[in-house]
Amino acid sequence: MAQNKVIVANWKMNPASVGEAVKLFAAIQRTAKDLRRTQAIVCSPSIFLQALSKRLKTAKCVLGAQNVFWEPDGAFTGETSLPQLERFDVGFVIVGHSERRSLGETDDVVAKKVRACLVRNFTPILCIGERVRDVDGDYLSFVRGELVKSLEGISAERLSRIVIAYEPVWAVGPEAKAADTPHAFFEMSVFIRKTLVDMFGRKHKTMIMGIPILYGGSVDEDNAEGFLKEGNAAGLLVGRASLDAKQFSLILKIAERIRS
Ligand code: PEP
Repeated sequence: MAQNKVIVANWKMNPASVGEAVKLFAAIQRTAKDLRRTQAIVCSPSIFLQALSKRLKTAKCVLGAQNVFWEPDGAFTGETSLPQLERFDVGFVIVGHSERRSLGETDDVVAKKVRACLVRNFTPILCIGERVRDVDGDYLSFVRGELVKSLEGISAERLSRIVIAYEPVWAVGPEAKAADTPHAFFEMSVFIRKTLVDMFGRKHKTMIMGIPILYGGSVDEDNAEGFLKEGNAAGLLVGRASLDAKQFSLILKIAERIRS
């Protein structure tokens, strides 16, 4: 059976104003309203979520957050809680993005955020990925370790509601030299599923096979099809190209054409 593709926009600390955010969101929604097999998720800065939530027009384009705090309320200066996000129709949260990990977010903190999302019925989009692709293959044990530690304390039942984004850090953002290859992504997604089976047991294999694994890192309209088709990615996490309404709409249309 064909599986719907999930295309996530990570706007990072952009755009500069609420007016621009609303304009970009409206343009993405114009494309999204014609989607049948593709789900768009726009992860905007928290400060724009209220304005965007008032402009939600189609279930094919929903809102996500780029980060969250694990406690529901209290004295946590500068943080945003899940109950606050709930009021703005946010259902997804990016957790453990490499840009947050490089600001000091540890696997332990990531695991707390993943657990909090699952307990409150949000879908965490857990980002994992190595900083360096070494020839000795140490990056595989790095990814395995990150996955194990980021999922600490998660039951198999809750795991079934997670989305994983494999984002090799060397391929993410303006400093990246290139994207990964669809073939390498495919192999990594097999490795991630095998790690999950080792962690949760063979009896959960069918559930684990159904967990969406997205690719992220320098995705654009030229390489999107390769990752979705040859790489068999369940979807894409798109940074820079999601800030350009035309480019992001093209990526959505490419995903819509693909049946896997
Ligand atoms: C990201 O923000 O997760 C990302 C992959 O960024 P970019 O597409 O710009 O590399």
